[in-house]
Amino acid sequence: MRLGADTVGGVTATAPMTPEAALLRVIHCLDRALASAYKTRAFVRALEVVRATDPVELAERARDDRLTELDGIGDSTAAVITEALAGLVPGYLRKIDAESQVELTEAGAVYQRALRGDCHLHSTWSDGGASIEAMAATAIDLGHEYMVMTDHSARLTVAHGLDEERLTNQLVEVDRVNDEIASAGIDFRILTGMEVDILEDGSLDLADVMLAQLDIVVASVHSKLRMESKQMTERMVMAVANPHVDILGHCTGRKVGKREGSKFDADYVFAAFAQFGTAVEINCRPERLDPPRELIDLAMQYGCWFAIDSDAHATGQLEWQPYGCNRVAEREVPIETIVNSWSADELLDWAGG
Ligand SMILES: [Zn+2]
Ligand SMILES: [Zn+2]
Repeated sequence: MRLGADTVGGVTATAPMTPEAALLRVIHCLDRALASAYKTRAFVRALEVVRATDPVELAERARDDRLTELDGIGDSTAAVITEALAGLVPGYLRKIDAESQVELTEAGAVYQRALRGDCHLHSTWSDGGASIEAMAATAIDLGHEYMVMTDHSARLTVAHGLDEERLTNQLVEVDRVNDEIASAGIDFRILTGMEVDILEDGSLDLADVMLAQLDIVVASVHSKLRMESKQMTERMVMAVANPHVDILGHCTGRKVGKREGSKFDADYVFAAFAQFGTAVEINCRPERLDPPRELIDLAMQYGCWFAIDSDAHATGQLEWQPYGCNRVAEREVPIETIVNSWSADELLDWAGG
């Protein structure tokens, strides 16, 4: 089955590895380090070349030092391929793997161990860099029992968001991958979902009939983040109160050091979260780390549920949950209030109830 072919491994790379596996692992680590697309592109291109080249020819070229004659292979990618073929963990991979390790505090590790899944992540169906299969293979390697496939909704055109028709097609694909996982005897499930845009008036960018079909719905604000506090409060409360919404994503929309969060009445909003049983997302993306600490404290005071989500757009980013675990450990969020510390069935019961 193809699942194995896309596997990039868990925490560390071990020899021997194929050139394809080595390049995949480099890309995984670069994504984990939130490297620029420019930096990653050379390795993505080299991966395409390796996949398109006969393995015998590749080995001969590596032996004769002629890999760089291939269009798309440069000095650093040639070195990765040559060292992998020699049965070594390539030096560049070792370096980037070590440099991109995500720090996990001792207290954060208690939360990390408790997590059983990830409720917010993207694939190539919207603006992610990896297929559903590749994301699932990495989630399996990380020890997850489930992941919720939450690509963007149609309104987010820059992210190639899914309209109803494409979402319907994605549900078929998720079924297919789930069958493949089950027939491989792996105890893991992809749950269906979407990261649906919260429109300016608080309504959602997907018809109710479609929302009702999804296992888990994450709703997020991606536009007009600067609206008046009163309007933003109403917009968020509307979304939180929507019976289809299970989790509200990156609630302030801030970007650390770059963009301030939206202004809203946090008391009203978190009271609504608690009232309607919607979970506050702890968004683990290092440039987001949303909500900020004082809002985590406030959400706890209101007795809210939480979800520690990677919001991964690439396989390497599925390893970002420790960023959120470190923060909730610091704020002493009760583990039992974290919805993805539950089994898939418990999560589905909660979301359906
Ligand atoms: Zn988002
Ligand atoms: Zn997202």
